[in-house]
Parts: sequence; structure tokens; C-alpha cells
Amino acid sequence: MKDCIFCKIVKKEIPADIVYASDRIIAFPDINPVAPVHILVIPTRHIASMNDLSSDDYDLIGEMVAVAVELAKKKKIAENGYKLLIRTGADGGQEVSHIHLHLIGGAPLYEDIHPA
Ligand code: AMP
Ligand code: ZN
Repeated sequence: MKDCIFCKIVKKEIPADIVYASDRIIAFPDINPVAPVHILVIPTRHIASMNDLSSDDYDLIGEMVAVAVELAKKKKIAENGYKLLIRTGADGGQEVSHIHLHLIGGAPLYEDIHPA
């Protein structure tokens, strides 16, 4: 999609340090990390939010989760643990309207477990 920042990263119009790439999925570090490891895993195809998935797309979400788990192992945070997060819509705090799975770890992240 024309004005989508993540589509621009897919098309290499905006630079990112791509840490995983396939035809269907890419992953790159979050520009504003909240933890020592903070990677975004996105589909190469523009899908605005989880609400826009068709039933055929659930395999893709599974694949994104698998990529995140592999990256957690590669970054050596798997054993201590990490968080996988997909924000959706305004109340979910979604800022970029192109589905992205956050892989967050490398430090204790307890504070989010009991949000105020
Ligand atoms: P969300 O709030 O779940 O929509 O997350 C959007 C995330 O995208 C935020 O954590 C931003 O820091 C991140 N972000 C925005 N622009 C870029 C970019 N050009 N490269 C990497 N991450 C980005
Ligand atoms: Zn997009």
C-alpha cells in the first residue's frame, strides 16, 4: 500500500536491518526498542490489522509466530523468556496499520503483566 511505512520497508524504500526474509515474511528491529531485543515480524503483503485477516491468512500468522520463536532462539533470549504482541486498533494501541508481531525480550518485562 502506497503510504504504508512497513510496505516501504518491504520494498526497501525505507532502510531497515532485515534479520529475516522470505517471500511472505520479513523481520527487522523496532526503531524505538522497549527492551534489549525488540524485533518486528511482518507479512510482506499489506494487511492492515488482525480484523482484516481472511481464513486463508491464519497460516501466515502461524508462520510469523514460528519466525519470532526462531529469532528468540537465535538472539539467545528464548530460555529466559520473551513477549509476543500484536496490537490491534485504537484501543489496542496499534500505530502502524500493517500487521506486525512484536518480539520483545532480553530483560524482565513483568510490569506489563499487571498494567495499571
Ligand atoms: P504498534 O504500536 O504496535 O503499531 O507498533 C508500531 C511500532 O513500529 C512501534 O514500536 C515503532 O517504534 C515501530 N516503527 C515505526 N516506524 C519504524 C521503522 N521505520 N522501523 C522500525 N520500526 C518502526
Ligand atoms: Zn503495508
